[in-house]
Formats: sequence, structure tokens, C-alpha cells
Amino acid sequence: MNKVYIPWIDIFQRIKQSEIDSDKNVIYGVPKGGMIITAFLKNANVTHNPEYANVILDDIYDSGKTAQKYIEKYPEKDFVALYDKRYENINDWLVFPWEKDHPSGEETIEGNIVRQLQYIGENPNRPGLVDTPRRIVKMWQEVFRGYNPDKKPKISVFKNDDDGLVYDQMIMDSGNYYSYCEHHMVPFFGRYWFGYIPSQNGGIIGLSKVARLVDYHSARLQIQERLVHDIVEDIWKELSNGFTAPLGMGLTMEGEHLCKTMRGARKKGVMTTTKLKGVFLDNPMARSEFLSRCK
Ligand code: ZN
Repeated sequence: MNKVYIPWIDIFQRIKQSEIDSDKNVIYGVPKGGMIITAFLKNANVTHNPEYANVILDDIYDSGKTAQKYIEKYPEKDFVALYDKRYENINDWLVFPWEKDHPSGEETIEGNIVRQLQYIGENPNRPGLVDTPRRIVKMWQEVFRGYNPDKKPKISVFKNDDDGLVYDQMIMDSGNYYSYCEHHMVPFFGRYWFGYIPSQNGGIIGLSKVARLVDYHSARLQIQERLVHDIVEDIWKELSNGFTAPLGMGLTMEGEHLCKTMRGARKKGVMTTTKLKGVFLDNPMARSEFLSRCK
């Protein structure tokens, strides 16, 4: 017999499908699984005395032993179980979220999002929201992949004079990024400008790789000040690995922060952060050439 851990979302979906949560019902929950389920009913009346109930609710109809007790005593009442061997083929050993050996982890993250929906005043069982917790968890795996070193893009670095040309000027690239502010967990996003000057024996990096690294580092909760720092330090390290370090490197990022524009100050505006290294930091000419192109 397989052990199956039932996630909270499954419980909520079954409550909805069973249609027990109707204001026409007075429900008695069989301790303790059935009783716990009654805590999630919004419309039905709940009683602690089976005499007053028209529905007796349990979490599972398994051997039927518990059910038989109630069915014999209250033959006129409906006996409803969320998981019912009378109507479905249940061959697994079901472990409910409120049972001791149910693991915490991703399964309960969805239940946690259900609680957040309830907190803001929503009904997590309405059709538009039933799959929302699952979708959010899936989205998080994508937009927060920057915590997972395995998801870091593989970088290939070429030697500067590989094709006989030693490039000694500034290489610039620009693009867009999307990240999340760590104070409010809402997006900030905008354009970026990246530039560097490779050294004679240094490495050259493909610009699409720069874009992928910007995306990867953006996929974490953070502040925009750290984002420019993390990206530049990372690319600097990649270009210095086995090669002479670049002569200079810079990154400027503009960010519209939703935590500033849609709440709080409610002012539109763009924050700019810059990280400079090497000649971009020390040499006023190189610095102003780089910054003048960040537009
Ligand atoms: Zn914020």
C-alpha cells in the first residue's frame, strides 16, 4: 500500500466538489478529521451535536466502521466522507495534512497561499482561485530560480585575440530585466546598460550570456543596489577565470518599483543604480564615456 500525502489544496477542492458547503446544511464533523474540515466551511452551519445535523461529515470512509456507528444511530441523516471508498477506488494509505506524519514542505506551501487568500478577504474556493496556489508555486519556481545554482546559465568565455583581432574598445549592451523587491515582494523592472573593455589577453563574453546572467541574478528577492553589484562581480569573475581581468566594467540599471508606484508614495519614478570597476571607476574619461551611453 502506497502512502499518499494529501495536500491542503486537495481538501479544499473536494469540499467544493462535494457541495456540502451549502447554507441549507447543518453539519456535524466526526472527530477529529471531519471536525477539522468543518472549520473550512463558509456557508454551512456547523453543530457539535449530531442530533441537530442533517449531514454527518468525516474525512474518510475507509473500513466503514466509524460510519456504521453513525448510520445505525442516525439512519435519516446523510453520512458524507471527503474521501469515500464506497464511490472511488482508494488503494493508497492516505495521510491527511493534520496527521502527525504528514511532511511539511511544498505541499503545505499551497495551503499557506490559501491562508493568505483568506487573509485578504478572498474565498479560496471560488472557481477563479482554486488553482491559484498551485500556479503561484509554479511561477515562484521560475521567477525565483536565481536561488538555485544549478539554474545558473553556463558561460563560455573566448580569448580576446581568438580570431586574430585584439579588441581594445568599450563593448556595450542594453536590455530589460524584471526582479522582485525584498521589502514588499512586488516587482521592480526596467532597462539596463552593461559595458566593459577586455584586456589584451583577456576574455570576451557573448552578449546573450550577459542578458542571461542579468535574468538569473534578477530572479531573487533583493534591492536594486545589490543587483548591479552581484551581476558585475559575477561577470568580472567569469572573465578573470584563466584570463587577464577586464580593464573596466560597468552596469547601470533603471528600476520602476511597484512598491513605490502602486502603494506608499504612489509616485511614478525611476531609480538608477550603477556599479563601476577598473578604469570605469578610476578614469573620468572612461567613466563619462560609459555613462553617456546609458540612455
Ligand atoms: Zn519595496
